[in-house]
Amino acid sequence: MKVLVINCGSSSLKYQLIDSESEQALAVGLCERIGIDGRLNHTPAGGEKVVLEISLPNHEVAIKSVLAALTDASHGVIASLEEIGAVGHRVVHGGEKFASSVVITPEVISAIEECSELAPLHNPANLIGIRACLAIMPGVPEVAVFDTAFHQTMPKEAYLYGLPYEYYEKYKVRRYGFHGTSHSYVSKRAMEVGGLDPENSKIVVCHLGNGASVSAVLNGKSVDTSMGLTPLEGLIMGTRSGDIDPAIMEFIAEKENLTLSEVMNVLNKKSGVYGMSGVSSDFRDLDAAAEAGNPHAKDAVATFAYRVAKYVGAYAAAMNGIDGIAFTAGLGENDKKVRKLICAHFGYLGVELDEEKNAVRGREIVISTPESRVKVMVIPTNEELAIARETVALI
Ligand code: ADP
Repeated sequence: MKVLVINCGSSSLKYQLIDSESEQALAVGLCERIGIDGRLNHTPAGGEKVVLEISLPNHEVAIKSVLAALTDASHGVIASLEEIGAVGHRVVHGGEKFASSVVITPEVISAIEECSELAPLHNPANLIGIRACLAIMPGVPEVAVFDTAFHQTMPKEAYLYGLPYEYYEKYKVRRYGFHGTSHSYVSKRAMEVGGLDPENSKIVVCHLGNGASVSAVLNGKSVDTSMGLTPLEGLIMGTRSGDIDPAIMEFIAEKENLTLSEVMNVLNKKSGVYGMSGVSSDFRDLDAAAEAGNPHAKDAVATFAYRVAKYVGAYAAAMNGIDGIAFTAGLGENDKKVRKLICAHFGYLGVELDEEKNAVRGREIVISTPESRVKVMVIPTNEELAIARETVALI
């Protein structure tokens, strides 16, 4: 079956058409600047990227344009829309309502709407994508796959905050965690690649991209993760601060004469390695700046790596040991220097990195030595394939 996977943001829409039998992407693409002017980047498998400067006033037009690109005579990959058997949507927040993926019904749409309060930037955009597909492709089954679902197995001591309990009862203020589709996919692959027992394994997944999070996966289930109520908690990220002393917010608001929402903007968009270095949120730029002698870039990378190592240490405590550590996402998959910096903290775990294997890029590989007590792996994530698999499984 051919599954259209949609990841709808407020002004962008990423898509892949995946053949569920071969598990290959037949086409990938991105609609940008929706509601502003519009651009569609479409790449058929094995073909050239096509850039279409077209007007995309809203998401419905964007989805219509994607379907037109998929069936186009020159750069299309299917003869007609009837070939699309199902649509899988990435939905950011499923709150406590969704511990797994679901077939979309009117009740599910209402429940996703109720979770919008917890992800006001993301869930409404995801819903626009869902509604647009229902309008354009009535009768084609649609599935919602939640970023938070995999972490719903966290025990209470991992998800409660040290706040008045009534905030949890009244407003559902608790830790949820994100990147769940990636943590789930990568932990499963890590078990296979590392030869670990799904029923008896302790795996830490380090999803290190622009957004970054670590999870503790015990016997296939998430028991802790570094992101919280929102994706701001945890690691130092590209532009996000991650964990800070909450008192800093009032302190900086007074010093810099900022409102609460202006401070939030600083924590989300102007902090992380970008804010620390004053150079960039991209580790390629940071590595180059550090090599050229920029001390702030060097500090940013070292502090980032130290924070990752601290979380891994915390999860060794949470699971009473670690069998495997898997690195994934843009930075985790590509930056051997950062992996080495992080792993340098794991002598006490008996981690030994194989430098040659650590230099390999773009494929699943064990990068620790055969003597290493913990298997360290690079596992490229594939959230779209995971969404396509979930979609097929449910329909
Ligand atoms: P997201 O999906 O959260 O936007 P990605 O998983 O695509 O992020 O990761 C993007 C980040 O990965 C970049 O900002 C960059 O820091 C890092 N990255 C990508 N390629 C490389 C590379 N070759 N070397 C070092 N870092 C890289």
